[in-house]
This record gives sequence, C-alpha cells and structure tokens, in this order.
Amino acid sequence: MGFVPVTEMLREALKGQYAIGHFDIHNIEWTQAVLCGAEEMNSPVILGVTEDAVNYFQGYSVVKNTALSLMQELNITVPVALHLDHGSSVESCIAAIDAGFSSVMIDASTLPLEENIKITKQVVEYAHVLDVSVEAEIGSIGGEEGSVISEGPVYTDLNECIEIKNNTNIDTLAPALGSAHGLYKGKPKIDFEKMRDISSSLKIPLVLHGASGLSERQIQEAIQSGTAKINVNADNHVAFTKAIRKVLDEDSELYNTMDYLKDGKEAVKQTVIEKIKMFGSSGKAK
Ligand SMILES: [Zn+2]
Repeated sequence: MGFVPVTEMLREALKGQYAIGHFDIHNIEWTQAVLCGAEEMNSPVILGVTEDAVNYFQGYSVVKNTALSLMQELNITVPVALHLDHGSSVESCIAAIDAGFSSVMIDASTLPLEENIKITKQVVEYAHVLDVSVEAEIGSIGGEEGSVISEGPVYTDLNECIEIKNNTNIDTLAPALGSAHGLYKGKPKIDFEKMRDISSSLKIPLVLHGASGLSERQIQEAIQSGTAKINVNADNHVAFTKAIRKVLDEDSELYNTMDYLKDGKEAVKQTVIEKIKMFGSSGKAK
C-alpha cells in the first residue's frame, strides 16, 4: 500500500465532523511512532515533513523510502498521506512530488496575494495531474516552525480566501486565525466565527496549524467550524524530549542510545493516540 492524497480522507472528515491528525516526523523513531499510533487507533493519518526535516533526513527520497519501508514492515493498513509541510517554493513542492509525496503545502503566505495565487496555482497545476493534493496558506500563522519564524498572527481576510480558492483550485486552505506554531506564550485567541465564514464560503476542508497547546474545547470548536486537518508538532517534541530526559536523569550510567530512544518513541506514540482520540478519527480508516 502506498501513500494517498489527503483529499478523500479530509472530505470524509469534514462530512463526519472529525479531523485527521497531521503529525510532523523528524526521524525514524517518530515515523514509527506516528504509524503505529494511527494503526492502533485504526485512523487515517498524515505524515508531515518540513523542509528542515527533509534536510535532516538527507533528502525527499530518504523520507519517502523510510516511511514506505516502515509501512510495509509494520503491516500498516490505514490510509497514510506523505505531506510536505510549509513548502517554501514551487521547486521544493515539485521535488517532493517527484520523490513520491502524495500531498504538498505551498506556503507563499508572506507574499502579496497576487503572488501567492500565482505560485500556488503553479503548484496545483503540477500536482493535480499526478493526483497529489495541495494546501495553501493565507495570512500569517505566528510562531516558529523549524527555521520559519513569523511575528503573527495576522488574521486572514475572508475575501482573500475566496480569491485564492477560486483562482487556484486548491484542495485545502490554512487560514491564519490566531493559532501559532511552537509553544504558546499566553492564551491563544482563535477567530472561530471567521473560520465558519471561510468554511461555508469555500466549501473545502480547512487546516489548523499550531494545535499544540489548544484546549480540547478549542479543538472541538475548530472541527465544528470546518477544520478537517489538524497539525501537531510541538506536543510531540515535548513528549519525546521529556521521556528521554527522565530516563537519562534516572540512570547516569545509561549509554545505549536504543535504551532511551525507545522511551521517546513510546511517548510520541501515546501523544499521537491521545490526539487521534481528541480529533475523533479513531476507527475511521476504511
Ligand atoms: Zn504549520
């Protein structure tokens, strides 16, 4: 079984009022953890890979082959999408697609709307021929994502969302509505009303970035307001690092890397399971 685009799983999620988790992966341990967590919950899942993670893995094909081999060895049966997170250029989206990614995000959100539309359209034209789904971003999601640091949040304008959707034929949109990447400083304020307006005008699944640290109530309200894809990264970093720090603190003699990485891996898997339960996607794999 290979990777699937996100289109179908998100359409189903939007209809069924739940969301699919997008979990960033950075190494083989996280990839195993996300795949095993999703399989255990019988949930479709999206493996998210930033350009920084691609570099860390040492290339798009390494990411793709690692994930694909693990899916075979682990007998993964749930639908899995391999998605480029925050692709910064048409070239990097094409590189991901050519390597076998089934979904890409083109993030031209820092550019003026016209430019964003132009670049996003180029990616859609290349991707759709190959049955690859495309996510665009509009406005500015605050915080830090790898080397991408933005001030934000700059709340998205509804008319701009309509314009980008009508001019590009994107499959999903990430409108900046107050969420931020990384760990929140202070309480995040999400504009759910605008989220509902965008959802009912665009009629495509919306994406929520920076879900780590949002309350369960906020997550549920996002889902009720048209969000069908929720990106999780920081919570997994915290769980992984905390578990490893604990085992190393407890045993200063420990030196075998597998003996502490397995604890980190298990912590990520448990976090993934918790999120899948919260998003309501367990049991939704066909
Ligand atoms: Zn993001």
